[in-house]
Amino acid sequence: TRKLANGRQSPTSPLKLFGQAKKKINDIFVEISSYVTESGEFLEASNKPESDLLSADDADKVKQFFDKVNGIREILTRDRMKVAFFGRTSNGKSTVINAMLKSKILPSGIGHTTNCFVQVEGTDNSDAYILVEGSTAPRNVQDIRQLANALSSVKLDSDSLVTICWPKEKCSLLRDDVVFVDSPGIDVSPNLDHWIDKHCLDADVFVLVVNAESTLMQTEKNFFHRVSAKLSKPNVFILNNRWDCSASEPEMMEEVKMQHLERTIQFLVEELNVVDRFQAEDRVFFVSAREALICRAQADTRTPTPNSNLLEGFQGRLFEFANFERKFEECISKSAVQTKFAQHTSNGKEIITQVKSVMENLYSTANNKREQRHQFFSETQDQLDYTEKQMRLLSEDIKEKIKLMVEEVDRKVSTALVE
Ligand code: GDP
Repeated sequence: TRKLANGRQSPTSPLKLFGQAKKKINDIFVEISSYVTESGEFLEASNKPESDLLSADDADKVKQFFDKVNGIREILTRDRMKVAFFGRTSNGKSTVINAMLKSKILPSGIGHTTNCFVQVEGTDNSDAYILVEGSTAPRNVQDIRQLANALSSVKLDSDSLVTICWPKEKCSLLRDDVVFVDSPGIDVSPNLDHWIDKHCLDADVFVLVVNAESTLMQTEKNFFHRVSAKLSKPNVFILNNRWDCSASEPEMMEEVKMQHLERTIQFLVEELNVVDRFQAEDRVFFVSAREALICRAQADTRTPTPNSNLLEGFQGRLFEFANFERKFEECISKSAVQTKFAQHTSNGKEIITQVKSVMENLYSTANNKREQRHQFFSETQDQLDYTEKQMRLLSEDIKEKIKLMVEEVDRKVSTALVE
């Protein structure tokens, strides 16, 4: 397995695909930018008012491309992979996110409910801070208790967003440009459509965290029906969480698992119609986020996990959690590359094509003018040749006439003399 024992990313993590693609497309845009700059300079130098080689439209176009390319490069630096977590309150969304981040970043548990959207993203700073929607001042947070206090001290609507900027050096997923979004429980929100419009339209992957002790609820299903109506074929994973709780009833475990598996696969395949049956098996997992978090937080302190915290069969559940992460990473990086970069690629192609056509216009206008001048010269030359010939003929004629006149005069003079 490419996942290391303590859950750290290996250098071959599928998430690297996104970083590599981002670097490549950024390099291409650096080239496009210098091509557009050079073309702009060339056009400006060629476009003397008296030469009349370039239309005002074409000259403007290239200037606009310059801004457009810079705009795309700016967006590229901000492009990240986004995963949004949904589920009913207390199903374990915050715990799943913490387990994936390998650290207790989000407050979770009794006494705390996330009543607004909370985004976790990486920062290059060495200290964590939070940003609250509507306020530009970042607040420093040292630990989770402070964070919980900070979150509960601000009164926010359920659709507002608090961003936790967490040091990238502490977490490989954040280093690889993944952004996590935790949501208020879908059982309590009044305006799901507004949520989706505001927080979900740019999500690459959705994770539905359900409680393995109960069946998939209608509220959970309804939410994804709405997502699916707004986004064509969203990438949905379903985590049947709290699977450790079933360990106390091992005789029922297999049967319950088969029931849940069948229902969730049917939901994804037949109701939502987002995957086929074969793919659906890589979208449904039975995990214990609590155990995964305990083991990973413990792995960082390099002390063994006290077994009393883990229930029988925990290795299997940890393995399943790592398996989920692997499939999730493959899915999110592939989807983000397609959705984020396909648009940039076609914009880049369009810009290059248009600049090329402006340059070709300039070239053909210059060529036409050269042709016209050539024609003008050759016509003038012909006229000159003709005039010269005429002059020659004329001068021959005049010479002859003068000769005759001279002879005539000569003759007349001699006659006069004789007389
Ligand atoms: P959220 O409201 O969906 O974000 O849920 P939380 O992550 O805050 O979890 C609610 C409670 O369930 C907390 O006390 C967690 O410790 C607990 N919990 C979360 N995941 C598991 C799990 O896999 N197994 C068990 N036994 N408890 C869990």
